Amino acid sequence: MAAAPLIGVIGGGQLGRMLGWTGAPLGLRFRFLDPSPDAGAAAFGELVVGALDDKDALDALARDTDAVTYEWEGVRASSVEHLVANGHDVYPSTQALRASQDRLVEKQLFASLDIATALFAPAEERAALDAALRIVGCPAIIKTRRGGYDGKGQVRVDSPRELDAAWAALGGVPVLVEGVVDFDRELSVLACRGRDGTTVTWPLVHNEHRGGILRVSRAPVADVAPGVAEAASRLVTALLDETCYIGTVCVELFQVGNELLANEFAPRVHNSGHWTIEGAMVSQFEAHLRAGLGWPLGATDPRGWSAMVNCIGRLPDPAAISAIPGAHFHSYGKSARRGRKVGHITITAVDDDAREQTLARVLAATEDDG
Ligand code: AMP
Repeated sequence: MAAAPLIGVIGGGQLGRMLGWTGAPLGLRFRFLDPSPDAGAAAFGELVVGALDDKDALDALARDTDAVTYEWEGVRASSVEHLVANGHDVYPSTQALRASQDRLVEKQLFASLDIATALFAPAEERAALDAALRIVGCPAIIKTRRGGYDGKGQVRVDSPRELDAAWAALGGVPVLVEGVVDFDRELSVLACRGRDGTTVTWPLVHNEHRGGILRVSRAPVADVAPGVAEAASRLVTALLDETCYIGTVCVELFQVGNELLANEFAPRVHNSGHWTIEGAMVSQFEAHLRAGLGWPLGATDPRGWSAMVNCIGRLPDPAAISAIPGAHFHSYGKSARRGRKVGHITITAVDDDAREQTLARVLAATEDDG
């Protein structure tokens, strides 16, 4: 019998852990690379402890793998290129990874595909910032081109007088100035593209943030006008085709009336897709693995209504959550720390009456979190 397929994952956090957990019943084996010997993904595979850009560690990760993927878009493109140059099959594409790492390149890619975004203008240095703000207008959000996440690396300005402080607060690095979008709500679209170019999408997700961190996702999104879901599918498919993408992607969107503006994309499985584990025929994690192995992707239809609540800072008592019908507990095997995502709870419901009450119970149970 042929050896079970071996997947290498750069990064051993919760996303790697959920890939491993999902792949176990498929008979897949996993190896993770992470700087921490306590990486949560180690519960589901072998762990190589090393820096994510250490070539020896990367070689040890990739040895004899059938495919290598990454769980973090901050991984250096040169690390991925090193593996590709040595004959390893790494997905998603470096092209997608590079674009997602630089907000200017990302926005230009969206624009080249006729995907609407907020108005934007780059500024390499302080002297260029005033002109960039004049293009975009006030109020604006100034974001570092690289390295921002969970609302970090960005400052809102309401007048040109605030530019000096904003520039200093962001560390004097190249930035992108964006117009503030007066959105109705934040959505995301998750999709997966297989090796044969087949693309599947999950139903649109409605996301609510707290303190810059995702708190609740609901799917499928309620009250969506005809054509909006199709527009989301079209834009994500165009992005995936353009970047020769393989695997799961998430595009974060602002909905304004019936228009969708793309904010950013993540070339990986995404927090706003965790509901698909219990809530869809095939989850974002399983589809990502199937795509890497060249398998059919399967059906992404929702099984009903789902909501996902992030546990931020600390985990509630799993026994207490188990008392809530339709609540599914996920621990990431991480120690408690303020502002850290340490787990999530998915609520599934077929009964319309019960679902918001169940969600309210889960929100209350996780309310004290950092
Ligand atoms: P980001 O780091 O780009 O994902 O931004 C984090 C959050 O800031 C988003 O989820 C939005 O709530 C908000 N935000 C980012 N960019 C804009 C914008 N151009 N207009 C309005 N809100 C924004």
